[in-house]
Amino acid sequence: MSKIIATAAIRGAYKLVNQAEEKLNKFIEEKGEKQEIGFPNTAYYLPFILALFGMEVENLAGAKIALNKAKKLLPPIPDKELWLPYLGDTLNAGIAALAAEEIIEALRYLEGTEPKGIWLGFTDDATLRMQGIKLVDGRMPGFAACVGALPTNEQAVELARSLQEKSILVFMAASSGGKSMAEQLAEEGVEMNWDTYLVPYGKEITSAVYALNFAVRAALTFGGIRPKGEENAVEIGRQILLYNKERVFAFVLALGADPEVDKEQVITDEKYATAAGAINFGFPVISDVNLPQILPTGICTYEHVVSNIPFEKLVSKAVETRGLEIKVTEVPIPVPYGAGFEGERVRKEQMHVEFGGKRSTAFEFLRGYPMDQLEDGKIELIGPDADSVEEGAAMDLGIIVKVAGRNFSEDFESVLERRIHEFISCCNGIFHMGQRAIVWIRISKEAFAKGFRIKDFGRLLIAKFHDEFSKIIDKVEVTLITDPEKIKEPLQEAKRVYYERDERIGGMTDEDVDTFYSCILCQSYAPDHVCIVTPERLGLCGAYTWLDCKASYQLNPHGPNQPVSKGKCLDPVKGMWEGVNEYLKVNSHGNLERFNAYSMIEDPMTSCGCFECIVAVIPETNGVMIVNREYTGMTPIGMPFSTMAGIVGGGVQTPGFIGIGKIYITSRKFISADGGIERVVWMPSELKEEIYDRLKKRLEEIGKPELMNMIATEANAVTSEELVKFLKEKNHPALSMEPMM
Ligand code: SF4
Ligand code: ZN
Repeated sequence: MSKIIATAAIRGAYKLVNQAEEKLNKFIEEKGEKQEIGFPNTAYYLPFILALFGMEVENLAGAKIALNKAKKLLPPIPDKELWLPYLGDTLNAGIAALAAEEIIEALRYLEGTEPKGIWLGFTDDATLRMQGIKLVDGRMPGFAACVGALPTNEQAVELARSLQEKSILVFMAASSGGKSMAEQLAEEGVEMNWDTYLVPYGKEITSAVYALNFAVRAALTFGGIRPKGEENAVEIGRQILLYNKERVFAFVLALGADPEVDKEQVITDEKYATAAGAINFGFPVISDVNLPQILPTGICTYEHVVSNIPFEKLVSKAVETRGLEIKVTEVPIPVPYGAGFEGERVRKEQMHVEFGGKRSTAFEFLRGYPMDQLEDGKIELIGPDADSVEEGAAMDLGIIVKVAGRNFSEDFESVLERRIHEFISCCNGIFHMGQRAIVWIRISKEAFAKGFRIKDFGRLLIAKFHDEFSKIIDKVEVTLITDPEKIKEPLQEAKRVYYERDERIGGMTDEDVDTFYSCILCQSYAPDHVCIVTPERLGLCGAYTWLDCKASYQLNPHGPNQPVSKGKCLDPVKGMWEGVNEYLKVNSHGNLERFNAYSMIEDPMTSCGCFECIVAVIPETNGVMIVNREYTGMTPIGMPFSTMAGIVGGGVQTPGFIGIGKIYITSRKFISADGGIERVVWMPSELKEEIYDRLKKRLEEIGKPELMNMIATEANAVTSEELVKFLKEKNHPALSMEPMM
């Protein structure tokens, strides 16, 4: 490290240690040494200190011992600006600085001055597990710790977008010239949270430690490294730093805000000290400011500090320096594109136009064709474009994707169709939810202003299908229909095929197979949600049957659908298996222990947000109602679908409520542990009509065809009193069944 940096870093470490000490002593005086200290929702105490010093700090006394340890690492301050030929002293100073920062931040939590507002502060263990796994499995290539601010807000947005496009997680901390990058983004209305890969930690330089205590916990959580007390701290610390160097592709962007300003003012001693700490992890520092360069490699796989990089080259230089492997598909649309935009929402006020949802008809449909019938790359728009309507309007939209390929099989159709959700969601400024005929899409004003039009859906889908399914797809065509008349027939055709696909699995039972399949596609916004898909219970969105999941697994063994071996049966009636529980525990990140496939009362399946229907207990009737998403009216439990959806969704178990796919209603396993189809007392007429044939068959199968007329609709009752009256008149069997709850 050059002498200037080395001296500044060592000076900075002293300042931070002193600041921590002052603050700590003040607290000890006020509250006593036994006062507890720590971050919210973590099992790792002060994680950085635990990892590097092997100490479980629980109270102020413990913090004091840790700080003394940090102090011992401080090398003497060079009285002149000495040339240090090796990094040793500076690196030690960096570790001391981070330990001090962690104590300072923990004291903030005690004081109530922790990061708030746009700042997220400490990352709890649950978020760490959920996000960290993306780093481990490669969905996120790495993270960038952005320290400081950019010369202009526009540049801040540009930098954020280009990192998001590469799926690089962005941590933001500290300020320069009184500004921080996160504040710049906030001023420009950019959505910042874990879902958008933009994580503002705090405005102080000390909050940069959150990025590093995230990194150490990644090693502890995913690297299988265990702290073994203070005696082994050196060895364990070495393993943790090595894990990060080799696996966590992170780098620091030291942003100077105004390059005209004297760099001594912009990059403070404390920042140098923090950077020295990060270099211990093998995280190089890339800067737009003219810092002294340090090019020879050592601790980092590449250079330690690369400076004076023009703004436009910052990201590419970082990627190159850290040796990130990034696969970016060129998606020819006028808005940024990448996984970083997948969880983004477009609120009503931000939208230019929407399709589907409550206000118009929309569907998406993918079909295989013979090779000679398609012209690869063709996009056709039938009807008006998005600029034909006023801001805030709703339009119809049918998205028909036609594919052909020598190795394509019909079994793959619905699997590929369901990927449309993810492909469209990754556009910056486009919101997508649902599938089949219940999709809901929004184009934001911003995306519209940048030139996004309906044909861009075609462009991006063609690019992505070619990119991800080159093994089975040779040609892709997309037809987009917005004409309210011309959409009708293709929609009927799509519904017919959806129905056929659902029928195909009809004959199989859960007992026929040893293996179920999981679906975790919806974890992008319901992080702990897992669908367990069995032959007799399809995914709750209605788009994934057991056969689909099987095909999807064949297509992509590392994808969202994994085989789940049933293992020992723990309860044949409720539908509980040892293997399923084990899978669920891991993939719900420890939040769910047990699951019953056939009960909605005891440990039911979780719901994400895209269920076709909600089943809810109506206590007064001792039965259940089923409401489909399309029904906007009132229901006998006094809530419309939309209110219920808020209660049921989000990936938690809600006894008494489940989200389901329509086909499950007529399955032999429909809440079979709770009494089955005989419990159904109410459903909207539209739904009853839609599933009429299947329902009739099922009721005949149980020898009770008369039940059909005992199931009320909104025409018979919309309040629970009316419903009870109706059921009594009809003598519905639910009334005399054993109590549900
Ligand atoms: Fe998969 Fe379930 Fe989401 Fe459907 S609802 S996409 S089955 S996780
Ligand atoms: Zn879902």
